[in-house]
Amino acid sequence: LEKQIQHSDKLALIGQIAAGIAHEIGTPLNVISGNAEYIMMEMGENNPYKEELETIISQAERIANLIKQLLEFARPRKPNYTKVNVNNELHHVIELLKHQFEKSNIKLNLKFSEDIPSIYADCSQIHQVFLNIIVNAIQAINQNGVIEIETFAKDGYVNIKFRDNGVGILPEHIHKIFEPFFTTKEAGKGTGLGLAVSKRIIDEHNGKIEVESTPGKGTVFTVKFPTYIKKEDKEDDGGEPKGV
Ligand code: ADP
Repeated sequence: LEKQIQHSDKLALIGQIAAGIAHEIGTPLNVISGNAEYIMMEMGENNPYKEELETIISQAERIANLIKQLLEFARPRKPNYTKVNVNNELHHVIELLKHQFEKSNIKLNLKFSEDIPSIYADCSQIHQVFLNIIVNAIQAINQNGVIEIETFAKDGYVNIKFRDNGVGILPEHIHKIFEPFFTTKEAGKGTGLGLAVSKRIIDEHNGKIEVESTPGKGTVFTVKFPTYIKKEDKEDDGGEPKGV
């Protein structure tokens, strides 16, 4: 229990600090990237500082992304629940990542259960969870590998399994991966917020997330959401998720 209290205190404190800093950084950062883009435009494609300007723009974008993640983490939004088919949402996210799969030469294996029941979820939050997990899998593989995504219903839950044959997670790291700011990625590549945010979203949906991993072999993440239970044909009421 003591550990839990410490954890939630830590999260609240991080949230407050992050929100404050993120807000203060956002405006000057926009000025920096806006000016760099303006110079780039004025000087045209063949200017001698093209590379340096591109560096400014891309690095500013990196900070902007980090800030966006920090703010999402610091100020969680209440879910906007609707009836959702996970297969459709997975297809949507995969489409967004199409070029990354091609670029990294990763084969995607989809084993979707066709008659999967619906869940009660916030679409954009679910997208974020799927995106975080799949991007991690792509980064764990780096080049040439396989990602398998399987969906099935079991014991009142819709299950989504993400399997990759990437680097895997060391036993001494596996208990830390859901902690905010835990990352093993090189500076600038990881914020350590992806799984912390994902776990919070999943908890809020009364779902579960589990991980199994073998270093050198690969990793399996299993995400479970309670199956949507029809309430006398009532349409989405925007209320709490209907659990099991
Ligand atoms: P980030 O991706 O920014 O590091 P995450 O919270 O998404 O933050 O992930 C935390 C850590 O968990 C990663 O740095 C990595 O060490 C580990 N991890 C997550 N997913 C995988 C995976 N599929 N394969 C190997 N390691 C993973």
